[in-house]
Amino acid sequence: MLVLCTGFRLVVADILKYLKTPTYKSGFIYTFIKYMIHYKSKAEVELMRESSLLVSKTLAEVAKFIKAGISTLDVDRVAEEFIRDNAAIPSFKGYQDFPFACCISVNDAVVHGFPTKDLLKDGDIVTVDVGVLKNNFHGDSAYTFAVGEISPEVKQLLRVTKNSLLRGIEKAVHGNRVGDIAFAVQYATEKEHGYGVVRELVGHGIGRHLHEDPQVPNYGKRGTGAKLKEGMVICIEPMINMGTKNVFHDKDGWTIRTEDGKPAAHFEHTICIQRGKADILSSFAEIEAAEHANINLFSDY
Ligand code: MG
Ligand code: MG
Repeated sequence: MLVLCTGFRLVVADILKYLKTPTYKSGFIYTFIKYMIHYKSKAEVELMRESSLLVSKTLAEVAKFIKAGISTLDVDRVAEEFIRDNAAIPSFKGYQDFPFACCISVNDAVVHGFPTKDLLKDGDIVTVDVGVLKNNFHGDSAYTFAVGEISPEVKQLLRVTKNSLLRGIEKAVHGNRVGDIAFAVQYATEKEHGYGVVRELVGHGIGRHLHEDPQVPNYGKRGTGAKLKEGMVICIEPMINMGTKNVFHDKDGWTIRTEDGKPAAHFEHTICIQRGKADILSSFAEIEAAEHANINLFSDY
């Protein structure tokens, strides 16, 4: 099950479900609908902007709150309350039985981390990945926070990973292909800095379903993969390891960790493909403002 972020585990799970169910016919149709590319109308894009900006506001609430001495379960509670107070549903809660509103991944946890009672401490990096469902459309975004002072090496990892997301988004325009995004992210991380680009986890289309086609890897060849067309809404989400690209599943069945125990960073935006320039539906502006204002976070990387 790799994965909330990727469709991979989901596809496997659905195929298994399909093979087991007597209602395979409807199951098949459902799977087919889910994994085809859905092009959104302008009105649907605006609904998705609303969902995506609510995710951003949720992450900004987290940015105000997060500090050493609180647990990631506390962070999850704050996020879930904020989402429900804004008349939305946390997309991840109950998704394939995931029990929390957020995936919270600390240090060597790459993605899908379980919120726990463990207290955050100075020097931790904490990825909070959140999705919301509002007006029948999902939004999805992730941000890695630095608690207290972090080493120069970790600062660089955060800066490069965040920048690689923007480098990928630059290529996310009508007429390009998914491989152009993938290549740009891989070049900005693996080629320029020797970081490990996780292979088992990828970005994804999004809409009425949390995960739709196409899959959007963070590695690949230019000019390959699905063609990007106006109205496609996708999540680009570099998951970048300081060391090896290899990962493993923790005992909880969800948390994905780096094999060498070195830290990983993860930034994600929901974007809509347009001609000339992508329309970024989520936003880091409020998150960054809250991050800068929170003296318990390091944001000057
Ligand atoms: Mg995602
Ligand atoms: Mg996400």
